[in-house]
Amino acid sequence: MRIVKSIRSMQRQALAWKRSGVPIAFVPTMGYLHAGHISLIRQARKLAGAKGKVIVSIYVNPTQFGPQEDFKNYPRDLSTDARACRRAGVDVLFAPKDDEMYPKEVSGGYRTYVTELTLSTGMEGKSRPTHFRGVTTVVAKLFNIVLPDWAVFGAKDYQQAAVIERMVRDLNIPVRIVVAPTYREPDGLAMSSRNKYLEGDLRRQAVVLWQAIQRARATVEKRARPFEAERLRKELKGLIESRPAARLDYIEFFDPQTLEPVRKVSSGTHVALAVFVGKTRLIDNAHL
Ligand code: AMP
Repeated sequence: MRIVKSIRSMQRQALAWKRSGVPIAFVPTMGYLHAGHISLIRQARKLAGAKGKVIVSIYVNPTQFGPQEDFKNYPRDLSTDARACRRAGVDVLFAPKDDEMYPKEVSGGYRTYVTELTLSTGMEGKSRPTHFRGVTTVVAKLFNIVLPDWAVFGAKDYQQAAVIERMVRDLNIPVRIVVAPTYREPDGLAMSSRNKYLEGDLRRQAVVLWQAIQRARATVEKRARPFEAERLRKELKGLIESRPAARLDYIEFFDPQTLEPVRKVSSGTHVALAVFVGKTRLIDNAHL
């Protein structure tokens, strides 16, 4: 496995592979890898095949964090991540530096952003107003550097995957987006690098996101007809906030294609939620 830190070297390597017809599958991440990320890498290997190349990027992208968010404290451990990637059969680990991705004023500055206008406005976009602009910008940059035939994203960040698919379509980027299922801990908590922040009892309370999803699923199964989203929202908020360290940020029921909120919930509706457990903000989502 090669570890590449320079954008120029990465792009040169990708161009050489492209010219000789070598397929490239790409997994963009912010590192501190867990089994969820590894499942995306395995999916990437399937897509690329034994003769193809799997590229994983590790980059904690400053532009997708708000000023009050955890950019500085976001967990980082490149050497452990590199070992995990090597074990998983990754060909190139691309770990660019901030001042190359977003050059400082002294070296010309950075002026261009990519913005998706519709799917990115609700839920995460509402709670974190500059988040998706940062995500679409960095992913567009990474696609131009890595030149992948496929890019694999996790369903854990459902809205993110939808926004990226839309960007790829609108900007005619020649990459196929593959969305892989959410990988969970045995008790149902969705794996996340941020779970590292959950110590002791907070870790136990964090299962409430999954419990809320299960409750929503049970309600849909029980009811024969579509029912009021607002009533279920209140019930789930009650369940979540019965955990002393948990505070609901949002819970939304929506159409899985358009991400438009629905007033009535039925089988096929999608649910997404964000919950603070202590100071840690966790998200999850599921098909009902
Ligand atoms: P992150 O490093 O958290 O930015 O995530 C990088 C990629 O891994 C994104 O496409 C995420 O959706 C995906 N991912 C994160 N957690 C999980 C999980 N528990 N299961 C599957 N994919 C995940």
